Amino acid sequence: MAKQVALYVLLVSVAIAGITTAPPLTIVILVFFGFKIYELVYFRSAKFIAIKNRISAHIQDCNDLNDHIEELKSTHIGADMTRRGHSDYHDNSKWNFKRSGFKKITNAPNVYNCSRSVCDGSRRDPMKYVCKYFGFSADEPTLSKFENMLNNFTAVEDGKNSLTSEKNEILASISDDVPFLIKKFSKKLLAKKLGFKDVDLSDTYYPSFKFQYVSAGGNASTENTIVMDIPNLNAMVNYLNDRIKWKKSVAGQRALMTSALRKHILERDNYTCRQCGISTYAEPHLLLEVDHIIPVSKGGMTTEDNLQTLCWRCNRTKGAKLNV
Ligand SMILES: [Zn+2]
Repeated sequence: MAKQVALYVLLVSVAIAGITTAPPLTIVILVFFGFKIYELVYFRSAKFIAIKNRISAHIQDCNDLNDHIEELKSTHIGADMTRRGHSDYHDNSKWNFKRSGFKKITNAPNVYNCSRSVCDGSRRDPMKYVCKYFGFSADEPTLSKFENMLNNFTAVEDGKNSLTSEKNEILASISDDVPFLIKKFSKKLLAKKLGFKDVDLSDTYYPSFKFQYVSAGGNASTENTIVMDIPNLNAMVNYLNDRIKWKKSVAGQRALMTSALRKHILERDNYTCRQCGISTYAEPHLLLEVDHIIPVSKGGMTTEDNLQTLCWRCNRTKGAKLNV
């Protein structure tokens, strides 16, 4: 405490001396460093540490949800989808040049260098061309993989909203106890010092497929990028379903794991986790997921009886047990 007072005294005296004698730029620099010292002192104070300890369980929950979302983002369609079927990489100089622009994108697009007519065709009928040129065959395993991706990515999108709301709620709950200047000018640092992990709200995790045509001379080029976002994943699931030659008995039993079915299951279960009983009525920002009771990998079907609503915490625990 004595140290804190000494710092303030030093700061005020320097500021007074500065204001009376110094030019404007020096004043700005002094105010800046003064504020940095104030921040430093505040984040080390017993008062701040008490606030941090009080909400640490909530922050841990938020960080766990963040980890969960990051895990879901890494859902893949195939182990090595760029090298199946007709897909091929050509590292021509133009592509290498453009590549530097993709540094921030976690999933650089899978590129297919093609003729102009293929590039144009991919615009007219995107899912057909992705299947044909990136080697996805119309069969049940492929459909299941895309359904799984759609289900997980929808959870990511819902989860990002949950996470933002939960974080804002936690910050609002301590708002009265945090000094005005810290709230106003040190928002990011406050979240960091409280222990929040960085949250990535971007949608760069969606895989994408790119058809690229470059003329022999290099002057003419067209490209068409198909991002597998939620609408496109729904389109893909429907496209594959139409193409698969179902045996009649299977087609009759099986439902399609689209966004519409997901919504239907959540409604049917009254937005309540069937494992622990928590609901969005009790916890408005709760992330709910749709889970296969018997996993697809263990022969479970996408049927209404085999689908259930789970909260993200129960689903995560179940997933961890299955992976052991
Ligand atoms: Zn639960």
